[in-house]
Amino acid sequence: MSSPAMYTCSHLALPLCLVALLGGCATTEPGASTPSSQAELDRLETEQRRAAAERFMEQRRSLRLQLEDQTRLVQSHYRLSMANADLCEADIRPRTGALFRSELDISTQLRPAARAELDLGPQLQILVVADQSPAQESGLLPGDRLTAFNGQPIKTGILGRDFERELEQTLLADAPYEVQYTRNGVANTTLLTPRTGCGYRIVVVESQVPDAYADGRTIFVTTAMTRLTFSDDQLATVVAHQMAHNVESHGARRQGYAIGGMVLDMAAIMLLGINTGGSLSEATANALADDFESEADYLGSYMMARAGYDPEIALKFWQILALTLPDIGIDPETYSHPFDAERLNALRKAEREIREKQETGSPLIPEQKPRAAASQSVTERAQERDPFAE
Ligand SMILES: [Zn+2]
Repeated sequence: MSSPAMYTCSHLALPLCLVALLGGCATTEPGASTPSSQAELDRLETEQRRAAAERFMEQRRSLRLQLEDQTRLVQSHYRLSMANADLCEADIRPRTGALFRSELDISTQLRPAARAELDLGPQLQILVVADQSPAQESGLLPGDRLTAFNGQPIKTGILGRDFERELEQTLLADAPYEVQYTRNGVANTTLLTPRTGCGYRIVVVESQVPDAYADGRTIFVTTAMTRLTFSDDQLATVVAHQMAHNVESHGARRQGYAIGGMVLDMAAIMLLGINTGGSLSEATANALADDFESEADYLGSYMMARAGYDPEIALKFWQILALTLPDIGIDPETYSHPFDAERLNALRKAEREIREKQETGSPLIPEQKPRAAASQSVTERAQERDPFAE
């Protein structure tokens, strides 16, 4: 039988091992520990176990909150994506409205907590089902475990993200797919018929900083920003604004302008012997950031209204944000371009424009066309986002 000291070292976490080793555990002969040192070890072991149990409960709480954030974001993102598919042009794809995950999508450190709190296992399962989505219409529910899709058995131990990527490449809109799944151990079969929506993804970023940003393909929203929004309309304001940045190709356009500014900087060095220190490229990018924000505000308001959200909520939310986080704004572009009276007036104008159309029953088509869409073909826009696109 192992000595109590050896047992402690091999079973407790690093800090206790260090305490034990530094305190003489490694040099203590088996059976030589005094009652007082044994009592001390027992106390440390109890404390260590209590701390581990608290950490585990904290991980479970954190995962539960993250799932709530993810669910809220999936709901508003799905609704906005479906209502604005015509504005997304090249970035459309068949959508199911279901979020698929397995325990492999979770870091190994958090996996035990994910098993306990979210019932996640090695089998692919549905984590979120968007309202009024094909997944909901087919009767699928969070917690359902997939066993086969379109006649193909689903192996255990695959990532939900990989499965979703495969679906993106193979699914056809308006075609029915057979889904086999188990619910509470009982096998079921249903038909799932995806519908076309905007193709952007949404990702929750665990962070204490309220922030949101878009890279042309994906929308990132931090947990702090999600928790700052009390209503779904407020959260939709954030998502619609970022979606509008993607529709307007602001990421690619900003890069293009920044390169233009760099050329000016280099010309100044070569022709005038002046080292601008990059100030021309920075000035170019800053001047355009205001335009980009205005475009995203305007188009985002329309996208909200088209999805049935109240654009007046957007206006109020921006006002609250401008007061509470004047130096942060909503995304990295606005760090140096916080909300000002001009921007809020433009939002009021957009809200009035939308309201008039709603009152007269006119279609909610933005008067200001997305610039990238107006100046480039669909193919050019696709190539701009992905140099390897066909
Ligand atoms: Zn923005």
